Amino acid sequence: MATSKPTAKGDILIVDDNPVNLDLLSGMLLDRGFRVRVATNGRRALSAAKSATPDLVMLDINMPEMDGYEVCRQMKGDDLTRNVPIIFISALDNALDKVKAFSTGGADYVTKPFQFEEVLARIEIQLKISRLQKEMEQKNAEMEHANLQLERANRMLRALSYLDGLTGIANRRHFEESLDQEWRRAVRSGAPLSLLMVDIDRFKALNDAYGHQYGDDCLRQVALTFSDTLKRAGDLASRYGGEEFAVILPATELSGAASIGEVIRARVEELAIAHDQSPFLVVTVSVGAASCFPTESGASTSLIDLADRALYQAKHAGRNRVATTDDLSLNPTG
Ligand code: GH3
Ligand code: MG
Ligand code: MG
Repeated sequence: MATSKPTAKGDILIVDDNPVNLDLLSGMLLDRGFRVRVATNGRRALSAAKSATPDLVMLDINMPEMDGYEVCRQMKGDDLTRNVPIIFISALDNALDKVKAFSTGGADYVTKPFQFEEVLARIEIQLKISRLQKEMEQKNAEMEHANLQLERANRMLRALSYLDGLTGIANRRHFEESLDQEWRRAVRSGAPLSLLMVDIDRFKALNDAYGHQYGDDCLRQVALTFSDTLKRAGDLASRYGGEEFAVILPATELSGAASIGEVIRARVEELAIAHDQSPFLVVTVSVGAASCFPTESGASTSLIDLADRALYQAKHAGRNRVATTDDLSLNPTG
């Protein structure tokens, strides 16, 4: 792959206490298009590297006061300069020195007198490695970011799959899972479990008279009355289907369920949504309330059946009212 030559191929810091060596190496690197800075002792090298992080450091080992090993150690211990590749330059051609150079964090080692082309090749390799490392870190960071976004999107999708699109309250799936869960919880605790089925009265006639849009608005407003009424953490209102809602009331007896049903009924009536096809002239709901003590062998659907029968009873008795399973035993229907 052909790439255009960048004007500056990298910023190189050369550290050597011998000015002749400095001039020689920096002259050659400048000729090849590198940006070059020089330092004649370790302390200056460290402050130069900190004030502007170089892309690479050529570091002499033998220097008075602070030797190259110490400069390397300090650079590797500093977050700003930790990742800068360091190539040691030394006249010492001794295996032990090389080992020490690598163990303090050096990336490579060249011995004086050096072949310039070889030094250049080693510099370019180190610059390439460090560029690839940076790219990899960048890619990793991007991937981590993308993963977080994906997780968030998945969480949102999961949340959406439990919500009714029109009213924003729980949907049928959420209702069924919650009812099963509350059933099992009640079996363990021995507490009663109650259920309300709430159905809008004469809704078909409302749609026919006022239009579907009006009907949809009505559904949203009725759904809002649930969140205003239900206060306990475990209570769950859901859209069971069409213009029918189901409300789960854990640890609630029939009398409590009936009074919550009555509050909902009254609040819907108070909304005063015009409905001239209804004998009440406003939108109303009928409520069936049922309660039981769940058992291991029982099914949560039996509670739905009971509440449905109570609802039918409320409709039959004239609508805009609450009926309970107690009413069923007095006046069995369905
Ligand atoms: P009842 O008093 O006996 O409950 O009578 P009803 O007319 O309310 O009951 P029915 O089951 O006959 O009609 C329900 C109507 O609800 C029929 C259907 O077109 C309407 N409906 C169901 N879902 C929606 C909805 O999402 N939006 C609107 N606008 N109407 C809906
Ligand atoms: Mg209805
Ligand atoms: Mg209905």
